[in-house]
Amino acid sequence: MKKHCTAIVLAGGKGTRMGADVPKQYLPLAGRPLIWYSLQAVEQSNILDDCILVTAREDMELMRTKVLEKYGFRKVLAMAPGGAERYESVLSGLRMLEELQSGCDAGLGRTDYVFIQDGARPFLTEEILRRNYETVLECGTAVTAVRAKDTVKIADERGFVVRTPDRNRVWNMQTPQTFRYDEIREAYEKMMVRVQEEKAAGRTLPITDDAQVMELFGDLPVRLAEGSYDNFKVTTPEDLRLAESMLAGN
Ligand code: C5P
Repeated sequence: MKKHCTAIVLAGGKGTRMGADVPKQYLPLAGRPLIWYSLQAVEQSNILDDCILVTAREDMELMRTKVLEKYGFRKVLAMAPGGAERYESVLSGLRMLEELQSGCDAGLGRTDYVFIQDGARPFLTEEILRRNYETVLECGTAVTAVRAKDTVKIADERGFVVRTPDRNRVWNMQTPQTFRYDEIREAYEKMMVRVQEEKAAGRTLPITDDAQVMELFGDLPVRLAEGSYDNFKVTTPEDLRLAESMLAGN
């Protein structure tokens, strides 16, 4: 039987590297806001049943009217407020999901798997979702990745190369990153305790993806699932131009 799958779509970032006045997720890409593309992939998917959309609290009204209502996205169950860091936004989405599921008349079955997706990746395909689904069924984890094309170096703070990992073993991480719901939720709650401890000691934890949360605080080994070089994240104006020309078929 098909398992219940929920997407957590992240649009809580400020996108400062884009240098625009509007948050990156609303920037127009081929006439539609960037966030539309991830939401549309969720909407059309046979794998994803529903979705939590994470967005800055002050943007929620804009998101509701200019995106959710305007385009009629029906799988979005709720919006959750974004945090200062990506991992805080993810935790906010996970907590919102928990709240919905424990609500008295939610009518929402317990979700089995969560697919955590950067809202800034416009080229998510059903094929990638399918590979994540098949892998997570087998392993409990499935994180989208592509083989590194360039050689990667590890450098010290002064810019001197320390070592060169074997390129055949180096992967670039993408999203979705998919996990058994109860496992990732527990790992994130444990992580948050550590984050608070580090904060109190004046330190920060450099956590940039969900796999890392599972690696450090979870119980399951993290399994890679093949992504696609097209599934890149729009970060800079050049990325937006590239996405634009890909959509135009150039
Ligand atoms: O900042 P970065 O490009 O790595 O963000 C990846 C995704 O995470 C984006 O879709 C962004 O909106 C989201 N994000 C978030 N909350 C943050 C930072 C990033 O939801 N505090």
